[in-house]
Amino acid sequence: MFTKKILTLLLALTGSSFLFSQVRISADFDTGSIGNHALLDSVWVKTSANDSILTLTYEIQSRFDPLNPVDTALRPSARWYHFRMEGVKGKQVFLNIKNSEVIRPFYSYDGINYNRFEEVESPFRGTINKIFTSDTVYISHFLPYTYTRNSQKMDYWKSLENVKYEVIGESSQGRRIEMLTVTDNSYDNTGKRLIWIHGRSHPSESPSSWHLEAMIDEITSDTPFAKELRKNAVFYIIPYINPDGVYGGYSRSTSTGVNIEVNWDSPDSLTMPEVKALKATLERVTKERPLDLLLNMHSQIASSVTYWIHTAESTTDRFLKEQLMLSSLTINYTPYYRPKDQSFSAVAPRYVEGWIWDRFSESTVAITFETPYTYYNEERSGTWVSSENLKELGYSVLYAVSDLFDLDGKNRVFVNLADLKRTNGWVKSDAGYKRLFFGDSYLISQRENSRLRVVIPYLEQGEYDLYKWVVGPSAEVFPNDVNRWQKSAKITQKRDGRYVWRSRAIGQGDEQSAILLVRKR
Ligand SMILES: [Zn+2]
Repeated sequence: MFTKKILTLLLALTGSSFLFSQVRISADFDTGSIGNHALLDSVWVKTSANDSILTLTYEIQSRFDPLNPVDTALRPSARWYHFRMEGVKGKQVFLNIKNSEVIRPFYSYDGINYNRFEEVESPFRGTINKIFTSDTVYISHFLPYTYTRNSQKMDYWKSLENVKYEVIGESSQGRRIEMLTVTDNSYDNTGKRLIWIHGRSHPSESPSSWHLEAMIDEITSDTPFAKELRKNAVFYIIPYINPDGVYGGYSRSTSTGVNIEVNWDSPDSLTMPEVKALKATLERVTKERPLDLLLNMHSQIASSVTYWIHTAESTTDRFLKEQLMLSSLTINYTPYYRPKDQSFSAVAPRYVEGWIWDRFSESTVAITFETPYTYYNEERSGTWVSSENLKELGYSVLYAVSDLFDLDGKNRVFVNLADLKRTNGWVKSDAGYKRLFFGDSYLISQRENSRLRVVIPYLEQGEYDLYKWVVGPSAEVFPNDVNRWQKSAKITQKRDGRYVWRSRAIGQGDEQSAILLVRKR
């Protein structure tokens, strides 16, 4: 009785602050981050005769990265937030999150399973309005991909056959920079394609890690496709090039404030240990020959997928064509990437792509790939980004890479028609690299009905779809029905052995580059 009286008295004296002071906000965990935050307002709202609900309004700042000591003219970024609120059960919480862009961020009641806020709960940039049903809630800019998850996946990947694990350096705070080398060592490495993939230079870009995880899962798997990839390529994969940044919940920098994405042309004294480790390893693996491909995995605020394609003016027409081939092939394999989403920029030495260009020029396609945080195709009513569709997108990139470098001669049989010996009635051309085709030339028919005959000496028994490449312009934007595979036949190969494909030109000027036979599972 006495206690109840005191409590009533206390409530009367302190007002509702006694109750809402029970909400605690923290970010002292893996990938946690929050800047200044303050309770702006609190009010009890009577919802019925006998019921009321406490509504709390907070203003929350996403934390700025430290000032960049290498270049103080570069403004520090904020974007990433991932914080915990305790004591929120049954309360209506309004959050106004500053210094960050996304709508419909994620929340979780256990710090493991995350959901997007519903449209009505987060209709505008930085605003959240929800009555939480558990006492503790985690709120995150995007589905987190934590340091711990990467460590667990690394433990799994490095336990697999065909995977070599290596620590290539240490971050400023002493975290390991870890690389997986994936290839089938029972096949000689000398003829293999060399493919380098790294991610998370920008720690806030967690969609890129879900995307890359799916790629690594496939590359290291037992699928027929993965086996062929490992026969024909060596993959050097560094999932986290900025482990301190990821763990510490930074947005675009390391714990020291440096954006290592643009640290590649700094003098040695200002080059971060992470970049030094990458440079030394790149130099080591390219001692014999250049990489064929370097993929730099990022995520962007724009609601679309993109590659950052280097312009012909800053490289060459041929190099532009190669990058556009990778981009078009990726578009071919996903509904989430369109020709008009392609991005273009000049190659610059402050980026890894520029560092590679200065050494290997056209030999290495070095390119950044971006996944969005919100939805695809700039279509808010369309598909929102999830770990599941980022995984699908991972396969799209792998199929594109496989086609570009002909990495799977068994399940995805590729024939470059310009390699045919007899091409009467056709001329070979490179069209000044103003068209998109495989390799360094393609075929243009000189008359109607010019014949092509492809002999595949050994094709395994099975069902295949046969695709022809539709040659289109090497341009920043192109129609959806060109620069892609077009299904042209279904094939049944009754027994292992020779397969012959015949085709005729539909008219003068018919363009043919390649065919692809994709085996059905
Ligand atoms: Zn980035």
